[in-house]
Amino acid sequence: MNTAAGLPLPKLSRGRFAHGLGNLVGQDYIDAWTDEALFNACGVRIVFSERNGGLSEPPYSSLNLKVPGYSDTSQEALCPDPHIAMNRRILASAFGAQDLPLISPHQVHEDTILFLNDASEESLMQARQDAEAGADAVLFSCSDVAALICVADCVPLVFVAPNASFVAIHCGWRGVALHLARKAFLQLMQQSTCEAGDINISICAYSHHECFEVSAETAQRFEEEFDASVLRRADGHSGIHVDLGAALRMDLLAAGALDARIADMDICTVCSTEHFFSYRAEDKLTGRQGALVFRRS
Ligand SMILES: [Zn+2]
Repeated sequence: MNTAAGLPLPKLSRGRFAHGLGNLVGQDYIDAWTDEALFNACGVRIVFSERNGGLSEPPYSSLNLKVPGYSDTSQEALCPDPHIAMNRRILASAFGAQDLPLISPHQVHEDTILFLNDASEESLMQARQDAEAGADAVLFSCSDVAALICVADCVPLVFVAPNASFVAIHCGWRGVALHLARKAFLQLMQQSTCEAGDINISICAYSHHECFEVSAETAQRFEEEFDASVLRRADGHSGIHVDLGAALRMDLLAAGALDARIADMDICTVCSTEHFFSYRAEDKLTGRQGALVFRRS
């Protein structure tokens, strides 16, 4: 049974974090979004990165954390951006996680959840295999391992339970339509034996409805999976748009989440390319920001 006190309500704020690698990258800090009260209360560090302060060159400039299609292991040497490992080190160093093993799944727009319950070598090896096989959400109930989810327009979500177990999710429209967020939320609730209303939900920047026109087929899928309220016709645009945030909120509230425990930064990546990578705004050739989550023992 969980006996921990309730978590503070989620609140993301933008801060500047020194990483000590300025001699390599030319600037000694990165800007990122964190929940400081949550970190102080339960030790779970949530970091949503921005795109600046890394080493990558255009079109990946500059704190690029992944090139889709190139995995962390077998294909790393072929990756068109050679700076990803150093960028990840910059990000991790800014939060004192540079010594932790990192699990960053191969994201495949499906609804597979990767579970990690302890940081033993055997479990880590299995988690790395599972990550390579493909997963769009990770659920960690252990400390001293970091999770990294990468996005550019897709929705990055992090859930935290009062016992400090957490979930990090990559949700594109396919993941939203597959109800991946709700499935991961229910798994976290079950694993941490907490109430739905005790779980904190943090959502960083993604493509908002005004910038997310979809095909008639996709719109119909959303109307079937949710209802017509998640479809929009944006001013000045002719097609049908999907509000991914509204669909996610509908799903999570239906699962019992408390509205007050959902923190959405309310930033659209397509409209904010000075701070965030955007797949749509940058003609599909761009980098990925990340959600880095971990807890130290
Ligand atoms: Zn926008």
